[in-house]
Amino acid sequence: MAKRDYYDVLGVSKNATPDQLKSAYRKLAVKYHPDKNPGDKVAEDKFKEASEAYGILSDKSKKENYDNFGHAAFENGGGSRGGFGGFGGFSSSDFSDIFEDFFGDFGGGGRSSKRSSNNRGSDLRYDLSISLEEAYSGKKQNIQFSTSEKCITCKGNGSKPGHTPERCSYCGGNGRVRSNQGFFTVQQTCPQCAGAGEEITNPCNDCNGQGNRQTSKKISVTIPKGVDDGTRIRLAGKGEAGTRGGTSGDLYLFINVESHKLFKRSDVNLFFEFPISVADAALGTTIEIPTIDGGKAKIKIPEGTQNGKQFRLKGKGMPFMRRGDFGDLYIQVKTEIPMSLNKEQKELLEKFRKIENERSNPSIKKFFQKAKDFWNN
Ligand SMILES: [Zn+2]
Ligand SMILES: [Zn+2]
Repeated sequence: MAKRDYYDVLGVSKNATPDQLKSAYRKLAVKYHPDKNPGDKVAEDKFKEASEAYGILSDKSKKENYDNFGHAAFENGGGSRGGFGGFGGFSSSDFSDIFEDFFGDFGGGGRSSKRSSNNRGSDLRYDLSISLEEAYSGKKQNIQFSTSEKCITCKGNGSKPGHTPERCSYCGGNGRVRSNQGFFTVQQTCPQCAGAGEEITNPCNDCNGQGNRQTSKKISVTIPKGVDDGTRIRLAGKGEAGTRGGTSGDLYLFINVESHKLFKRSDVNLFFEFPISVADAALGTTIEIPTIDGGKAKIKIPEGTQNGKQFRLKGKGMPFMRRGDFGDLYIQVKTEIPMSLNKEQKELLEKFRKIENERSNPSIKKFFQKAKDFWNN
């Protein structure tokens, strides 16, 4: 099934404000929520589709990527997380706040993972700039970032060695408490244990009972050949550590490919303008051009090559990601009209002007024919 445009899914324009997005999503989510439509597959799909669209469009950087690249922005590294309808690699915990806002509690149904997703570590974003040459050849890169990791002393449970957490007295170990708000019964995270259901009575000295410690982490990442500007690479489990047995978040590498002095990139193809002299264009020549792999290639410029003529070098562009083949390199000839002529050059060109004829300048002849017809009518 082809993916629908996220704006179409929510029925809003591309200029919709965050509030308009939220309100459009709220309407759809309330209408199609699985708890209100038990067993209705169509409603479930609509609900997932709307949730996915809102998940992307409500996040500034994800929205920007989507606006620039469409669905392709989330195809790399995403999608492997099955779970809740495939949020393109983003965990359903990203959405828990929204559901909290909108629904309170509809009485159970599919919320059992709530506690562990509360404990899931945050996703992290790391922006990495690389050159076009590095995007061409791929590279290994060490990156260093600040994150949290499980405390070694207490193995992440937050209690001094020899002690264990005790059941929370406020929520009775539930992690959540109920209260009535209007016609909804709202279930909220327990304020005393923050949803853990347990209380640390003898906090670990090394992490102050948090179970995690802030640390600077260094990892080596592989940037695949052919990455494009805006490519997002997901490193599962490399985000912040979860609390009290929760899973780690993910680390997202956002690749920025710097613009190049010479080559312009369009997808897997490269392009540049090659200036040649009028004499070379008229008489023909062989030019030597640079290629992105650091090498050279020869191109034969035939006699009478016009300004703007394009030449294609097959396979001299950027590599396709996760494929063995390459795009092409396009060279566009730009004829430079000579300037600041010396005496001898001027004399020669004057001489040339006298012997120019209709055969050597067919467009000029054609134009004057048309002009003459116009005046005669
Ligand atoms: Zn500790
Ligand atoms: Zn509690």
